[in-house]
Amino acid sequence: MLIWRDSWLPSWAGGRIQNTLVNNSVDKVADLIDTNTTTWNMELITRVFNVEDAAAIKCILLSHSGDNSGKYSVKSGYRTLNKQTDPNAVAQNRSALYKKLWALNIPSKIKIATWKFLNNFIPTAYNLYNRKISSSPICPRCEFLPESMLHVMTVCGPVVEVWNKPGLSWVLTPQYDNFWDWFEYILRRTCYITCGRIIITLWSLWFARNKFVIEGKRQTIQDISSKIQCFM
Ligand SMILES: [Zn+2]
Repeated sequence: MLIWRDSWLPSWAGGRIQNTLVNNSVDKVADLIDTNTTTWNMELITRVFNVEDAAAIKCILLSHSGDNSGKYSVKSGYRTLNKQTDPNAVAQNRSALYKKLWALNIPSKIKIATWKFLNNFIPTAYNLYNRKISSSPICPRCEFLPESMLHVMTVCGPVVEVWNKPGLSWVLTPQYDNFWDWFEYILRRTCYITCGRIIITLWSLWFARNKFVIEGKRQTIQDISSKIQCFM
């Protein structure tokens, strides 16, 4: 599949690459994939494409062809990323994470909401699009990027200011392409008290998102910060 000629982007992104500045260093879609990890080469994609095209590419999940040929398939629409990870290790990580979550001294409704965030039981535009419930995955607030869980919690609106608190601003540094991996990375490195602060912040960011999407009210940084303070 050829990067500049074929239609391989999701339909909401227009199908074809919009960037007219053809970069000769890459030609095939496969050139954009790191074959060791079966993931997009984020650094290369960010360098070669404009912001809109790069965001659309990063939304496409990759699936292994399964024939040991080392080829990967990219189709319009979304595929399950078949990570070659040890299922026992994944299960152990999950159970350790949930154990830490349930042990936190925060309201139960916030723990349950976090469990829903982790399991994608949340009506983000991206989830609704993938379940064919809505026609677009684009975020209703910024109207620019797909609204994934990670987008709501680490990119959209006043998130940078909200996280910019003593001991918390580092959480936006790790680069992950899904919420679970980012969350696990953060929680593994924090004590129970900081975990609680992080989870209450996540819940307040989701609350602010719903205020806008459901009631049309845009929450300020102060609104979100006072919501966080209510539960500390
Ligand atoms: Zn947004």
